[in-house]
Amino acid sequence: MRADFSKKTVSVIIIMIIIISGILAFVIYQNGKKIVSAPVEINTTSPQKSVIGLSVQGREIEAFTYGKGSTTLAFVGGIHGGYEWNSVLLTYKLMDYLEANPETIPKNISVIVIPALNVDGVSKVVGKDGRFTVTDVPNDIEQTKVGRFNMAGVDLNRNFDCSWQATSTWQSKIVSAGKFAFSEPEAKAFKNFVLKNNLSAVVFWHSQSNGVYASMCQNGILPGTLDLMNTYAKASGYPAQKSFDSYAITGAADDWLASINIPAVSVELKTHESIEWDKNLPGILALFKYYTK
Ligand SMILES: [Zn+2]
Repeated sequence: MRADFSKKTVSVIIIMIIIISGILAFVIYQNGKKIVSAPVEINTTSPQKSVIGLSVQGREIEAFTYGKGSTTLAFVGGIHGGYEWNSVLLTYKLMDYLEANPETIPKNISVIVIPALNVDGVSKVVGKDGRFTVTDVPNDIEQTKVGRFNMAGVDLNRNFDCSWQATSTWQSKIVSAGKFAFSEPEAKAFKNFVLKNNLSAVVFWHSQSNGVYASMCQNGILPGTLDLMNTYAKASGYPAQKSFDSYAITGAADDWLASINIPAVSVELKTHESIEWDKNLPGILALFKYYTK
């Protein structure tokens, strides 16, 4: 009896050990799987946020990266700050779209969005930092004009190193282009960002000259810029423009990119108020397709 009892007890203990081990192994495996897979899931939908530099007033200039490909496309809003606030809202729309539809970014492509290069100028007009909506914007366009310049009074899109001059023009006005090329922290931050990232193309959003404008410095329009301009123009419906002839511009950011062989265009929205998503989304998706080749 005693021997039988012992055998039974040992058998029961062995079976229980097997069952408990199985349960433990399952739990550990499940937890392990969760721990390993969680960051991957986050990375495919959420952007990587980085700060490319600080503004005159010390605000962070943010960049958001979507996708993991080695072909990098950059979209930049608000180089003219609060005066062109709709270009900033357009970047928010793109960011929300990419977060909700990560599968639209081809595997070989990364997208970097800089919502506002002149972040102080945006804040001055909308009265807050970070995301804003159209309800934060003054109705009177005159009140937005001061937000075009950075807080040193410089037009950032005249502060870059292509035919730079101390003063330049905006419509019929003379504007400050800074003490020297890249004298302004915002322009310098963008320069460092460009030199650090191997960009295949850059799109600046402005308003309101209704067109896709090619960039060019001393050596004419880059073939890659012509393709970029024509691809975006055809898909969006904005007219393709090889040059901006309304008034003379020196020290423009896209023209500096041309000087270092990076294709770039300035897409001018048609108005100061709309984001024209129905035109810009096809333009963006056409670039994704073009750069998938
Ligand atoms: Zn502009």
